[in-house]
Amino acid sequence: MAVDSNQSDRRHAKATRHDSRRSNLRTTLELVSDQGATSRAEIARQTGLSRAAVSSLVGELIENGLLRELGQGTSAGGKPPTLLALNERGRDIVAIDLGHRPFRGALVDLSGRIHERVDADQANTAPVGAKAHEVAVDLIETLIAKSTAPVLGIGVGAPGVINPEGTVLEATNLDWHGFDLGTELRRRFDIPVSIANDAAMAALFEFRRRPTDRNLILVKLGRGVGAGVILNGTLHRGEHSAAGEIGHVRVKDDGDTCRCGNSGCLETVASVPAILRRLGADPERHPWDALALAGLVGDEPVRRALSEAGRHVGMVLANVVATLDIGHVVLAPELLNASDILIEEIRNEMRSRILPATADLIEIEATQIGADLVLAGAASGVLVDRLGVVLR
Ligand SMILES: [Zn+2]
Repeated sequence: MAVDSNQSDRRHAKATRHDSRRSNLRTTLELVSDQGATSRAEIARQTGLSRAAVSSLVGELIENGLLRELGQGTSAGGKPPTLLALNERGRDIVAIDLGHRPFRGALVDLSGRIHERVDADQANTAPVGAKAHEVAVDLIETLIAKSTAPVLGIGVGAPGVINPEGTVLEATNLDWHGFDLGTELRRRFDIPVSIANDAAMAALFEFRRRPTDRNLILVKLGRGVGAGVILNGTLHRGEHSAAGEIGHVRVKDDGDTCRCGNSGCLETVASVPAILRRLGADPERHPWDALALAGLVGDEPVRRALSEAGRHVGMVLANVVATLDIGHVVLAPELLNASDILIEEIRNEMRSRILPATADLIEIEATQIGADLVLAGAASGVLVDRLGVVLR
């Protein structure tokens, strides 16, 4: 497959500049993943590495279950080359979403495809503290037992503020405060573990889907409101691991009291429970679906509640986007059938608050994958941590 010369030059520079095997392994894996069927000779040509070096790198990647041989390609005169591809099912990733009720888990392959799904048995309860830990461990055990390939890593997306080592500094919904989940899981399973905020994991997945993006923000409207921020191609965790905590920015001076202790937070108008309560619906009993709610209370009240939520999200995003020059906003509402109105309001509000010419350049869209977003994201987190690459 053709590759533009800039990309080829970049790879060449990358491969020769860092003269380390690890970096060359990453470059090789990324190249084959990006381009599909590729020969060793083609890898050598694009990276500037010797044929012998490429053969050795490819040998190690095949041995580790990451690449596989596809068969013979067409000859350009001489012996036909053996084509290589990502070995999608060569490794399993255990992915867990602790923001979902019940907790959800899945086995994900290297291409990001989910091939086994398990929900925890807690449909009507929301476990907290030690019980939440126990339920998560059971879920991981069940998935490992179902895996058909060596597990590359365990990826966990959880609500709250989580540091890069996997300590949950603050997760009100799970009643975890300074809980070292990472160490607990590593000790228990002896498998590498990647843990991050659920919106951050979701942002990694959306970034993975968009090869041309460098700066992206994903906004998750669920039980809380949170964002994941990708800056210059990497997940931005911030100084205190609290990047993306936009849910507690005050947007209303006379607003409702928030669970954080302040009042008028974005979460008090734009979280799904807040939207439902505004409509007189019970977030624990009524469906998280705008169409179903319209059937219950009428179109107009639903439209007004969604407009208000979208407007306030746009208000906060305007500041973020103006400060960081983000190119792409991805919205992930857990309320079904609400994206169109929300996006329209966000766009209008941002346009009225920042340079319109800048606002017009920003792409705003809803995620395409719905309820699996955090699972897919947690798998992306494992790929980044374990292999150092974003496999597209
Ligand atoms: Zn708050």
